[in-house]
Amino acid sequence: MRADESTEGAPAIELREVVKRYGGAEGLGPVSLAVPAGRTVALIGPSGAGKSTLLRLVLGLVAPDRGEVRLRGAPLRPEDHAARRRLGYVVQGGGLFPHLTAGRNAALVARHLRWPEARVTARLEELAALTRFPAEALARFPHELSGGQAQRVSLMRALFLEPEVLLLDEPLGALDPITRADLQADLRAIFASLGKTVLLVTHDLAEAVFFAHELVLLRDGRVLQRGSLDALVRAPADPFVARFVHAQRALGLPPGAPP
Ligand code: ADP
Repeated sequence: MRADESTEGAPAIELREVVKRYGGAEGLGPVSLAVPAGRTVALIGPSGAGKSTLLRLVLGLVAPDRGEVRLRGAPLRPEDHAARRRLGYVVQGGGLFPHLTAGRNAALVARHLRWPEARVTARLEELAALTRFPAEALARFPHELSGGQAQRVSLMRALFLEPEVLLLDEPLGALDPITRADLQADLRAIFASLGKTVLLVTHDLAEAVFFAHELVLLRDGRVLQRGSLDALVRAPADPFVARFVHAQRALGLPPGAPP
């Protein structure tokens, strides 16, 4: 390991001057962003701002055209599957395989890694309790689950290998308001109890404030501002920040302050 690859005290996630182009157009960047270990950071911004692209870069699902992504100070390399397993990912819509039961979906990677069956079962039980998923429903197929239950399975799958980092892309986007509120509360408690580093995408400012220590507002592939909601309201770095915050507050931001 080179001296500059030291992991001591390094941010859990770091993007250095990262650029991702799609067919000549800049999808993202240049963006520099560091997420310290144990923090929850929410990426917010309008559709097309580059939020999902940023998450996919951290996951190594897309490679940067320029710049570098680092995990704990070590550059992320496309072939580094061990590094990827330190990341848990909850995709938009849950991404469950319809032909596999909830339990099979949740334990997919562990089975691929040939965990002994007893260990898989024990971990499933532990995660069902943590995510408040009914253990008897582990035998059901995704079409037999409610939207909230499906997202809990997706969360179990993301947590299965005990990743250091959780990446969530609009995890609650498709849920009805009551299910969403339940799952929001559970997710926040899980983040706090596990002490993981969390990078979360949402277009909903209220949800971002509910979960995150810090907000990162993106537009047109760039970070416009990073900070607390209070900072974004009091000292917007760009007229768009003020517009975005006020438009969403007009929709009714709950009074609860970020944790
Ligand atoms: P967000 O998640 O904030 O809605 P995205 O990261 O999905 O934004 O998209 C950022 C920009 O990159 C948009 O202009 C989008 O059209 C473009 N983009 C994203 N993915 C692709 C792709 N696979 N091919 C071409 N353009 C893409």
